[in-house]
Amino acid sequence: MIPFLDLKNINQQYRDELIGACTRVIDSGWYIGGKELEQFEQNFANYCGVKFAIGVANGLDALTLTLRAWKELGKIKEGDEVIVPSNTYIASILAITANNLTPVLVEPDINTYNIAPQKIKAAITPKTKVILPVHLYGQLAEMSEIMAIAKCHDLLVLEDSAQSHGAQLDYKKAGNWGDASGFSFYPGKNLGALGDAGAITTNDAELAQTLKALRNYGSHEKYKNLFVGVNSRLDEIQAAILNVKLEHLDDETKIRRQIANLYIEGINNPLITLPYVKHETFNHSQHVWHVFVIRTQYREALQEYLAEHDVQTLIHYPIPPHQQQAYKEWNNLSYPISEQIHAEILSLPIGPTLMIEDAKKVIQLCNEFEIQ
Ligand SMILES: *Cc1c(COP(=O)(O)O)cnc(C)c1O
Repeated sequence: MIPFLDLKNINQQYRDELIGACTRVIDSGWYIGGKELEQFEQNFANYCGVKFAIGVANGLDALTLTLRAWKELGKIKEGDEVIVPSNTYIASILAITANNLTPVLVEPDINTYNIAPQKIKAAITPKTKVILPVHLYGQLAEMSEIMAIAKCHDLLVLEDSAQSHGAQLDYKKAGNWGDASGFSFYPGKNLGALGDAGAITTNDAELAQTLKALRNYGSHEKYKNLFVGVNSRLDEIQAAILNVKLEHLDDETKIRRQIANLYIEGINNPLITLPYVKHETFNHSQHVWHVFVIRTQYREALQEYLAEHDVQTLIHYPIPPHQQQAYKEWNNLSYPISEQIHAEILSLPIGPTLMIEDAKKVIQLCNEFEIQ
């Protein structure tokens, strides 16, 4: 079987280093809010090229707490509108509604699957306060245009970078474009912990301070509570593991890019649409290929055929947010581009331990796929 993503193999590459990191924490006697977290926050801020990284419990909290912090700082208030792509993973939207803010779904570009800047402009109202672009599948959204729109309309920008650790555009990484950015280190992400973890990156010192309080019961100083906060901490064991894995991230990304290039050069079937890499040569972009998403009108048939030939594929994602039960009030709305994407996409195996021979087998199978 060619697995979609072999997490066990990926982590076993660093088994000794990971055990060393865990042993260090066990023997330190300090398990929450210590040296490993401080080190990881510094390392990750440096990696992204920003001043601050604030570790939290997961990617959803990274987004939710940033919006919450902006409310506490008086920059936004309940009922304000947040522009978000209509084809994102549900977590981007949950972060908005959890704060009693109003999501305004904006359709993506059918080629890049990222939010379309022209459509953002059309969706802005006097209540719009935030744009929440998602760097979907590992490719940065059109951040130059989005930042220009935000500046023109005095809007905040919160990047959802959960799928794009290390992705770049114009030599600037995900996490360093907006006013703040949320990251997830869920095990299956490009930088994955061995459990849940997340972080916010920002250059704003006041926001960083507020987030540090919010994640810790709203407390800046022991036993003093400025805010009605939450418990959303990145523990020492996960921070130690992330310190190890961050060292290897760029090497893993190189392999993902190699495989993506093989697929792009090798797959040639009129029934299959390959991913479109917008600025690879012009703007020094770096797609980090969290997933390799193709599109076909024969998605079910292709998925079944690949499974019959021992190739595991997934769908990111099968149901668009506006058709979810959780958001019944949107079920009658129509977002045709999202609906087409959700009906046609399929993610091929990609990852830092996928064998080149296996990628070649996937290419051959895709090329031999036909509809009788
Ligand atoms: C994974 C993901 C999240 C949520 O991260 P968790 O750590 O699972 O909470 C948010 N947004 C996007 C786009 C994601 O892919």
